[in-house]
Amino acid sequence: MPTKPSAEKTKKLSKTEQAKRISTRLPQFLDAVEPLYINHPLDDICEGNAFRVLVGCIISLRTKDEVTIPACERLFPKYDTPADFLKLSVEQVEQLIYPAGFYKTKARTILEACQVLIDTYGGQVPDTIEELMKLKGVGRKTANLVVGLGHRLPAICVDIHVHRICNRLGVLQTATPDETEFALRDHLPPVYWAKINKLMVLYGRDICRPIGAWCDVCTVTRFCDQIAVKNRKPLKK
Ligand code: SF4
Repeated sequence: MPTKPSAEKTKKLSKTEQAKRISTRLPQFLDAVEPLYINHPLDDICEGNAFRVLVGCIISLRTKDEVTIPACERLFPKYDTPADFLKLSVEQVEQLIYPAGFYKTKARTILEACQVLIDTYGGQVPDTIEELMKLKGVGRKTANLVVGLGHRLPAICVDIHVHRICNRLGVLQTATPDETEFALRDHLPPVYWAKINKLMVLYGRDICRPIGAWCDVCTVTRFCDQIAVKNRKPLKK
C-alpha cells in the first residue's frame, strides 16, 4: 500500500526546521547508507581525475553502470587526456563507448569537449562550475561532479535521485534539483558534499526507486517521512 503522508509530515517546513533536518537527519541517513556502497568501480576509475569524471559523466547519461563502467575501462588505460582522444576518429570513439545510449552523439560531444579543452584551457579541465558549463553537453550536475569528485573541491552534485530522495525523506521541500542543491549548500556539512550523489544514486537505483520505492525492505526508514511515496513495490518472494 502506498504511504499516505500525515498532515504533520506534509506541512510547510520552516527555514529553521529545514536547516536542522538537512544538518542532522540527512547526515544520519547518509551515514546509515554509506556502508552498503563502500566500493564502487567508478570511484577507482575516476576519483581525483577531472578529465575521467568529465568523460565518464558524458558516457553515463541515460546509460546504466553496467555499460558505463566497461566503456571507461576500455577507454582510460589508453586514452587519458584530451590530446589522446583527439587522435581518435568519431567512429573509433563510438566503437569504444558502444553500447552506451546515444553513443554517436556522445562520441561527438566528447571530441568537441576535448578540442575546447585544448584550445581554451591548455588541455586542462576547468575547476569552476561556470567554466565547465560552457562546454557543450555539460550541465550543472556534471559540472558539480567534475569539481567535487574530479578536482576534490567543494561541490554538491544534485541529480534527480538526490532531489527525489531528499524530498521523500522530508529534510527539505524543493521543486527542482537546482533548488535542492542550493538548500544543501547552505546547511549540509561539507564532509557529505562529495559523497551524497554516489550514495543517493545507488540507493535510488536499488531501493528508493523513482517509481515504486521499496520501503518494505528499506533499512533506513527511521530517517524518512516517506513524503509523497507512491506505488510501493511489494516484496519479491
Ligand atoms: S525507500 Fe521509502 S523509506 Fe526508504 S528512503 Fe525511500 S521513501 Fe524513505
